[in-house]
Amino acid sequence: MRLRELVPHLYRVPLAQPVVTSFGTMRARWALWVQLRDDAGAEGWGEVWCNFPDSGALHRCRLLQGVYAPLLTGLQGDDAAAISARVQAGVRILRLQSAEHGPLDQCSAGIDTALWDLQARREGVPLHALLRRALGDPPRPGEARVPAYASGINPQGVGATVDRARAEGHAAFKVKVGFGRDGDLRALTEARAAAGSAPLAADANQGWTMDEAVAMLPALQPFELAWLEEPIAADEPVSHWLDLHRQAAMPLALGENVNSLPAFEALLASGAVGVMQPDLAKWGGFTGCLEVVRRCRAHRVRYCPHYLGGGIGLLASAHLLAAAGGDGWLEMDVNPNPLRTDVLGGLLQPVGGRVSLPSGSGLGLTPDLGALRAWAQSLPA
Ligand SMILES: [Mg+2]
Repeated sequence: MRLRELVPHLYRVPLAQPVVTSFGTMRARWALWVQLRDDAGAEGWGEVWCNFPDSGALHRCRLLQGVYAPLLTGLQGDDAAAISARVQAGVRILRLQSAEHGPLDQCSAGIDTALWDLQARREGVPLHALLRRALGDPPRPGEARVPAYASGINPQGVGATVDRARAEGHAAFKVKVGFGRDGDLRALTEARAAAGSAPLAADANQGWTMDEAVAMLPALQPFELAWLEEPIAADEPVSHWLDLHRQAAMPLALGENVNSLPAFEALLASGAVGVMQPDLAKWGGFTGCLEVVRRCRAHRVRYCPHYLGGGIGLLASAHLLAAAGGDGWLEMDVNPNPLRTDVLGGLLQPVGGRVSLPSGSGLGLTPDLGALRAWAQSLPA
């Protein structure tokens, strides 16, 4: 394939009800999508992580326009991974010189996703089928379905949110903690009461010191958590994660803030991590996360894609999970976000805690941008 153009699409939805985490409050939802076109008229779509800071989406959009579009135009190769490697080589020195690892890695990840989508559409196969082939697995006949869980659940009104998510078809739930011991235990008590015997996980978003995390562990035990996510900072030494693991009754989870293969490998090899959660829009795209999936398999660690963003990245994450198989769940934000729901139309509606993937080629979706007109941002000059 030979690439003709890269078109960024930028959206912003102001929030009536902010999304709160232990490290900050999200007052608007952004989405930054990459549309690639090749010389034959085929296209591919990807999403660039841009949740924080609030100005980050604009910066990443400028990087797509100013750095990546000229680099991609005219680029050709046999497959997505090969072209993606050339894109990353093309920004390698800028990445070092500017130390803009995050924004550049996220733009590269969105482009990588779009390249795989483009390749799958050209071949006329669903993305999960192409990704399974890349993993060396045989084709799996029949409809692709993956288990999912309701995520992004704020402590305020947690019981009502769990009830709503269940009514929408979810059968597993994850609650945000890290707001203070009493409030956390209150929220978990309410969540467990609403969830009944359904799986319940908790996410501290790196909110505790090592001592605080150790102190919380006995209080968390009665909630029988499916996992405890990011109790401490993702860049704490692996020995700290191992210490915590040895004292924890529940599996530990992280991955959304791990951003190199050696770091993933060190955590997986340590035995400290029960659930690995790379975010394909934030680091690696399909190419990087396929390698993490291979290593999860080798270390027998559960792979659960992290995701909190718009509909393109969610659909891409579902395809990778469907390809990976195993006992992972798809993370599905249940906060209102038209950049997720409106673009997906009726796709990925949970039924009995599982979602079905579309059967069309690539992602199985061509976004209806007209439906999102109200949220479109004019591109920065
Ligand atoms: Mg998380």
